[in-house]
Amino acid sequence: MDKLSPQQRSKNMAAIRSKDTKPEMIVRKGLWKRGFRYRLNYKRLPGHPDLVLRKYRTCIFINGCFWHGHNVAEPQMDNGKWIIDNSECCKIPRTNREFWVAKIRRNKERDKEEQRKLAEMGWHCITVWECELKPSKRETTLDSIAFTLNHIWLQDRAAKVVSYQSLDENEMQMPMAADSDR
Ligand SMILES: [Zn+2]
Repeated sequence: MDKLSPQQRSKNMAAIRSKDTKPEMIVRKGLWKRGFRYRLNYKRLPGHPDLVLRKYRTCIFINGCFWHGHNVAEPQMDNGKWIIDNSECCKIPRTNREFWVAKIRRNKERDKEEQRKLAEMGWHCITVWECELKPSKRETTLDSIAFTLNHIWLQDRAAKVVSYQSLDENEMQMPMAADSDR
């Protein structure tokens, strides 16, 4: 039985749509389409990364611009008060400003601390900001995440590849040199 009024239904539809287009879903779908596989909300790592790609030893955080203070300069202490300047995508309300400043400052500190811990454990971190996933920027952002992941993969293996190669060359050159002597 469908007992929803048209208004209720359109409200529901909007909720479903927004769930589908929420930033995390955009990144998940975009990376999946590009052939990347990942785990979600990996609780065993600091900061519970939104996506974890073990093969790339990379954690991806998808951050809301307001809550994580995108593009706001390092918070400053002024007369015993913390100050954060607004940025284009993080505008702190004028009412209760101190409360919001404290909250965003703590979030930023926590983000930094968690990424430092992850780096110590040998993980790479990629932060994707909500504003970079707007329809006009979305594909470019996803392409650049893919590019970064491939770059990380190559870099992590570069050292090993070089050492294997030099071993192989030595082994191959000796018999060849012996051959040409004859
Ligand atoms: Zn932003």
